[in-house]
Amino acid sequence: MKQYYHLLTYGCQMNVADSETIAGILEEKGYSYTDELTTADLIFVITCAVRDNAEQKIYGKLGELVKLKESKPHMILGIGGCMTQQDEIAKRIYQRFPGMNIVFGTDNLHKLSQDLDIIIEESKRIMDVHEITGNIYDDLPKTHTERHRAFVNINFGCNNFCTYCIVPHVRGQERSRSIKSIKNEVARLAANGYKEVTLLGQNVNSFGSDSDNDTNFVKLLKNLIEIEEIKRIRFMTSHPKDMSLELIQLVRDEEKMCKHIHLPLQSGSSKILNKMNRKYDQDKYLNLARYIRKEIPQATITTDIIVGFPGETEADFLETLRVVDEIKFDAAYTFAYSKRPGTRAACYENQVSEDEKKSRLYKLIDRVNMYMEISNKSRLGQKISVMVDGTSKKDNEVLSGRSDDNKLVHFRGDYKVGDIIELEVYDYSPHVLWGK
Ligand code: SF4
Repeated sequence: MKQYYHLLTYGCQMNVADSETIAGILEEKGYSYTDELTTADLIFVITCAVRDNAEQKIYGKLGELVKLKESKPHMILGIGGCMTQQDEIAKRIYQRFPGMNIVFGTDNLHKLSQDLDIIIEESKRIMDVHEITGNIYDDLPKTHTERHRAFVNINFGCNNFCTYCIVPHVRGQERSRSIKSIKNEVARLAANGYKEVTLLGQNVNSFGSDSDNDTNFVKLLKNLIEIEEIKRIRFMTSHPKDMSLELIQLVRDEEKMCKHIHLPLQSGSSKILNKMNRKYDQDKYLNLARYIRKEIPQATITTDIIVGFPGETEADFLETLRVVDEIKFDAAYTFAYSKRPGTRAACYENQVSEDEKKSRLYKLIDRVNMYMEISNKSRLGQKISVMVDGTSKKDNEVLSGRSDDNKLVHFRGDYKVGDIIELEVYDYSPHVLWGK
């Protein structure tokens, strides 16, 4: 009898990429994907540890799944991701939810197939969370969610220990794949009809710095540009302390390099950046962003900003707005700081009140939205290159795609997913361009 799986994936693109590997492993074992929780014979939850209250929310979800399992006792339930890489949490979940068949960590995907055999054949529960080994398992199967563009991990983990971030604690030290292995994977994708790849890492700019070979991110990109069928290359996330001018020049000069740079600012105040352990200051960030604006005027620059970091005064917040006003980001992910247990900043004094954080966040969002709208308005009448992604979520008569500079574009017409077409922008809103 056919067996179905469903994956609930939370958090960032790294988790999406992990879920694609899990899907590949499950399909190799004979499972097929289902959209519906109720028809699934196996459900895995891939968790994120970055948000506040994430643990409580996940408990609610696990409660629902365990209830669903009551009517379907053969169902296999599992949980993995950044949250369960934290020992305490993994143990709590394992004890509190006896209906969960497996609790696994971020570095255990290579054992998942074997673990599943044990669950099925020996009816055992498994807790498989171990210390990050630093090994790279890049021969695991993958099932990509889309047929025309794919995420490709290039490095794992992070060495930066920003004081608010849990990632280095749950994903371990930075380790890079070899250029050869990445190029082989991208060539396989190209042979299967993929046209766009997004290279993923917590800090793609430091790719290769852990290797003895003379390798770096620009060298990797030059290798991938050679693959003829790949028409577009994106990457995320960059770290301002490691982004080289050579990389910006490569994005400027190579047609295949998408004209979009995501450059997390986090704070515009040098004092707060120092407390965040970001290893750059306002000047360094501004000089980098100014250089991108000068060298690639058509590129979009997007960013991440946290408000209300411990010790952030009104004057510090105004420094953030000052940077936003100068760079006029084309889009930004904005967050109010929340304590993440296990990080240094969680113990800092001078935590900012929730009311103050909210008030700063609203001001920031207003400012960011204003520049997003200005950015979209500036595209009116311009010709843009768009890759067709499918129908729009709201209206299936309308098609949707991403421009080279990563703007969401809606349009009508008779196109196939993966087509790269040229459109003229005739209308806009802060979040969408309309093309014809
Ligand atoms: S660079 Fe900083 S914010 Fe990004 S993953 Fe590493 S520690 Fe976290």
